[in-house]
Amino acid sequence: MNPLDPVEFRRNGHMVIDFLADYYQNIQNYPVKSQAKPGFLLESLPDCAPLHPESIETIINDVQRDIIPGITHWQSPNFFAYFASSGSTASFLGEMLINGFNVVGFNWESSPAATELEMIVMEWLLKLLQLPNFDEFIKFFSFSNGGGGVLHGTTCEAFICTLHAARESILDHIGRENARKLAVYCSDQTHFSFQKSAKIVGINPKNIRQVSTSRSSNFKLSPRLLDEMIKKDIESGLVPVYLCVTVGTTSMAMVDPVGPLSDVSSAYNMWVHVDAAYAGTACICPEFRHFLNGVEGASSFSFNAHKWMLTNQSCCCLWVKDKSALTKSLSTNSEYLKNQATESGQVVDYKDWQIVLSRRFQALKLWMVLRSYGANGLREVIRKHVNLAKDFQMLVSADKRFEIIVPRYFSMVCFRVSPEVIGQCYDTEHEANEFNQKLLQSVNATGCVYMTHSIVGGVYFIRFVVGATLTEDRHVIMAWKLICDQATSMLCTPTPKCI
Ligand SMILES: *Cc1c(COP(=O)(O)O)cnc(C)c1O
Repeated sequence: MNPLDPVEFRRNGHMVIDFLADYYQNIQNYPVKSQAKPGFLLESLPDCAPLHPESIETIINDVQRDIIPGITHWQSPNFFAYFASSGSTASFLGEMLINGFNVVGFNWESSPAATELEMIVMEWLLKLLQLPNFDEFIKFFSFSNGGGGVLHGTTCEAFICTLHAARESILDHIGRENARKLAVYCSDQTHFSFQKSAKIVGINPKNIRQVSTSRSSNFKLSPRLLDEMIKKDIESGLVPVYLCVTVGTTSMAMVDPVGPLSDVSSAYNMWVHVDAAYAGTACICPEFRHFLNGVEGASSFSFNAHKWMLTNQSCCCLWVKDKSALTKSLSTNSEYLKNQATESGQVVDYKDWQIVLSRRFQALKLWMVLRSYGANGLREVIRKHVNLAKDFQMLVSADKRFEIIVPRYFSMVCFRVSPEVIGQCYDTEHEANEFNQKLLQSVNATGCVYMTHSIVGGVYFIRFVVGATLTEDRHVIMAWKLICDQATSMLCTPTPKCI
């Protein structure tokens, strides 16, 4: 047996495609959120690998029987949790090509197309996002102007690499002995992976500075509060090095003011990164582009194509204004990778733009997505999802028992049953939190939809995110009906009297 025998490859490959086509066809029959209990698989599968080969038929049967019950169906049209992981046929087929070629494109030489196609799709995306402005003379973030784009796996990696670049270039100036003084800035709404990344690059955890946000400013990072914090920190001997600005925060999809924040940070020569992991995709539509206004003042920008741009896991797009900051801090130079192309200085070696050496031919799937759907097809998907979220928001607003927590900018609605409807006790906010938590649990337990929650400013709320590729009107209406019925039955059940 040869493990890459073309006859077997064709036969088994078709079988897996058929299996997945059936899966997508029947996906609504499964509970959206897996109902598995901890240890369910550990108990049912053998405790060692088979000695003899097994057939693809047997294995696929086991996927159906053992694996599927432990899957939360992120591609289900009734998936409204977290931020969606929007898949598509084009991206899936792109992944097949990536796996089929199975090249390791660490530098140009190791597979020239892998590098050059990545440069091309990153420039295409730059134009789609009008980064910075379409007709602006200077093309920040473009290869033609000293910058460039690279595909990472996740935002966390983009954070680590840009934090490292910023840290290294400042330490080159002020001396390594000052590493403990470096401070980085974010808000209390910034994704936790920023803190994690800052710790990984060796920032003193005490110097990961969080600016508090408040309801009165829609939980935006305030340029004034940031400036005050930086000034105080400098007085006490810290060296500000990096600011993370978020467009589309994870809890509520709120938007930090990119331009004014970049202005504050540039005055201190800080690196400014704009994290638009979820909402970045929306900015390919002209009507959403204004959320990125001021991005030309930033040092780097990233978004996750795997969240909302029909690209299967995982695919984070990162651009930097000054590629040399990145490559200087991340480049490696070993004899066995030496080659003429690199020495000529005419090529990009992406190993110097990321954490690891080996890399997949990720560009292939983005290229497939961009070509198969075109800018118009992608915009259509974004607009459809935003409109579905608008419809959901209207349904919630029309029911006086519910309240919307913050304005909706994209495809997420944050809502809860309001405390006035629930309140019987002294501490109605606490009671409202418990009620909404129970409501979410009982709705999810039906298996018909899946949503998740967050807590901001002590308020527990439900996040309803439209973003799964298969979602249509009827799924949103069904979800609302379910939430409504569940709330009605919970509100009608008398709660024990409070003391
Ligand atoms: C999802 C998300 C992240 C984390 O993305 P990973 O790619 O999983 O690291 C970071 N920031 C924001 C705003 C997000 O929504």
